[in-house]
Amino acid sequence: MAHLYVIAGHGAGDRGAVGNGYTEAERVRVLASRIKALGGNNVTLGDMSRNYYADNGISKLSIPKDWCIIELHMDSSVSASAKGAHVIIKGSYNPDSHDIELANFLCNMFPGRSNKIVGRNDLANPNRAAAKGFNYRLAEFGFISNKTDVSTFNSRMDEIAKGVLSAFGIGSASASEPVDGYVVNGGKSQNNKDEFGDVSYRVHMRGNGWGAWQCDGEMAGSTGQNRRIEAICLDGDGKADVTVHIKDTGDKEYKGVTKQTVCGTIGEGKRIEAIKIVGTDCYYMYRVHQKNIGWSEWANNGEFAGTIGEGLQLEAVEIKKAMFSVNAHVQNKGWIGERAAENVIGITGHALRLEAFKINPYGKEIKVKAHLQTDGWVDYGTITKDTIIGTVGESKRIECLCFSGDFDYRVHVQGSGWTDWTKADGVSTLGTVGQALRIEAIQFRER
Ligand SMILES: [Zn+2]
Repeated sequence: MAHLYVIAGHGAGDRGAVGNGYTEAERVRVLASRIKALGGNNVTLGDMSRNYYADNGISKLSIPKDWCIIELHMDSSVSASAKGAHVIIKGSYNPDSHDIELANFLCNMFPGRSNKIVGRNDLANPNRAAAKGFNYRLAEFGFISNKTDVSTFNSRMDEIAKGVLSAFGIGSASASEPVDGYVVNGGKSQNNKDEFGDVSYRVHMRGNGWGAWQCDGEMAGSTGQNRRIEAICLDGDGKADVTVHIKDTGDKEYKGVTKQTVCGTIGEGKRIEAIKIVGTDCYYMYRVHQKNIGWSEWANNGEFAGTIGEGLQLEAVEIKKAMFSVNAHVQNKGWIGERAAENVIGITGHALRLEAFKINPYGKEIKVKAHLQTDGWVDYGTITKDTIIGTVGESKRIECLCFSGDFDYRVHVQGSGWTDWTKADGVSTLGTVGQALRIEAIQFRER
């Protein structure tokens, strides 16, 4: 097996041949990346920001003498029907076994040229390589000016890359590709300055290690870099248990985490695929950015964010604490489960009345008055997590609400939909009185 050094032709402002909406420099760079991705450690990618022809790079190249060099190009012609690949070597040389195998493969993939291997003495790079004693060839991967060749190049890119590798005895088994694939440039990285708040957290990223602490809904991690999160630390508000779903390990729960608790692994190359946080003293909301999926919905305290069993890494997380939580009792549905107050509490669009709700205030002072069907106004005073506002089992609608607390709220009323956001000042009411209209849902937001 050889070690392959890949030079992408043109570049550094020289776009090479142009045709069918593509440029040669760009196309051969994409192919070079795939050869590297599939060939792994057996391939070295030459600096793709350079133009090795223009800057005489081959004469200055220092690589082991037993490595093989391939330079990638695409042909072009004024005749759109000219097509086919071929391999160019130094004119005075005989093709070696790599040249022969490569030419056979390429001419099968891109038929059209009668000479599969052409010796030339008038090209700079084959001459420079020969002068240095390098094992070198330049391959033309079909004509960029020919529709069929370009279509083959684009749609069969990985097959082409594998064929090139095979010509040099390099396997392209997926084993050569690292777990979770290659990290890529670009994308978006988290802030690199420590930030602490009510809820602070940091993540351990592939390649980057620990990122700076982030807080209260800021992004920790990265997006668009194919960079997995391997561990997370949570410095929460009061007691919290964290469960992470780890590659190969499955769910692992960390009870009563502190700032120092590492949830996940370090140095084992194992992605986290999902996370669940259960806070006792505050109610958490969190969402994750997952490979191939993007951002999830906000998960509520005790729910998993992320997917399990699909082998997809988490790449970023955002965590914050909800103002408080609310559980709604809905007509025909009963109690529908505790949710962060920032969500829609109740069900809209199905003509279902909100019959009751319970608020866990998590230390906030919240006062509630409600106007109930047949009962009229009921003053619940300062509520606790056990206060039931409304009725259960009596099939009565809530018609109007009045809140006092450090937040705004709105309600969804039968027939007319959401009201405007209103300050919970203990005086303003939302809903109707005497019109027999049900409230269907409530929503809260920070003032
Ligand atoms: Zn070229």
